[in-house]
Amino acid sequence: MLLDGKALSNKIKDEIKSKTKNYLIKPTLAVIQIGNDEASNIYIRTKAKACEYVGINFIHTKFEEEALEQEIINKIIELNNDPYVNGILIQLPIPSKFNQYKLLNLINKDKDVDGLTNINMGMLFKGNNNLIPCTPNGIIKLLEEYNIDLKGKHAVVVGRSNLVGKPLSMLLLQKDATVTICHSKTEHLDYFTKQADILISAVGKKDLITKEMVKENAVVIDVGMNRVDGKLYGDVNYDEIKDIASYITPVPGGVGPMTVAMLLYNVLRNYEKNL
Ligand code: NAP
Repeated sequence: MLLDGKALSNKIKDEIKSKTKNYLIKPTLAVIQIGNDEASNIYIRTKAKACEYVGINFIHTKFEEEALEQEIINKIIELNNDPYVNGILIQLPIPSKFNQYKLLNLINKDKDVDGLTNINMGMLFKGNNNLIPCTPNGIIKLLEEYNIDLKGKHAVVVGRSNLVGKPLSMLLLQKDATVTICHSKTEHLDYFTKQADILISAVGKKDLITKEMVKENAVVIDVGMNRVDGKLYGDVNYDEIKDIASYITPVPGGVGPMTVAMLLYNVLRNYEKNL
């Protein structure tokens, strides 16, 4: 069965829209872009469109790669202090000459709608969640929507990034799954994936997960986004696995739309907290 992230994200967006239309002052999301990464331009346009649809103001500040670090710091401080700004994110990746770690951690933890500051990550680690990274949160919401119980289930997460793999593993643990985390140095990846009741791949390699690696009736979540000859593919060989899995996310139309919906959700959550 298909886990339809697009349908659920549309439902969440419509719920947000129905709330914002009652607000005289609209919630506001501020996006900081540094440099001119092509994929970032596309993601920012997608976020701007989604904000427009649900009635969230969108402020986009773009710095040239030659910008001074201090200019960016000043902007983050200004947005932190602006009571009308409910969410701030730095579109990643940023040029390597900038200290991403330092800049991210300047964002006020209650406006950090990507959930990537040390404080929010630490709170997630301790089970005292504040703002949660959007992709992992979207995956949990999708599993909940289809009443997929995680308690006692073996969840295998392939990928250990701070953006997806690690925070997702913490959320799965909070849901009482037994969690295994695999990465590029894992030996015999298929040994682990074959044990998974819930298999999540967040790597960025087309066809990494083939049918020999998946247990019958597993739930398969494909986070990967790999563009080949202008077409988008996940990490999972969907055609091979769709008849083995009990549930599977398509690419596109699975995890991607949920990520954007959770961003809007985080902005609205902060706005409503301050009403
Ligand atoms: P990342 O930071 O590059 O992390 C990739 C992870 O995969 C790393 O932990 C790496 O291991 C691991 N890995 C690499 N090759 C592997 C292999 N052969 N076997 C097992 N593990 C391997 O990427 P990310 O930011 O987490 O993103 C992962 C993918 O998800 C990308 O395709 C990205 O575009 C996509 N993504 C999608 C969404 C969405 O909304 N759908 C959101 C975010 C990301 P090491 O740690 O050992 O290097």
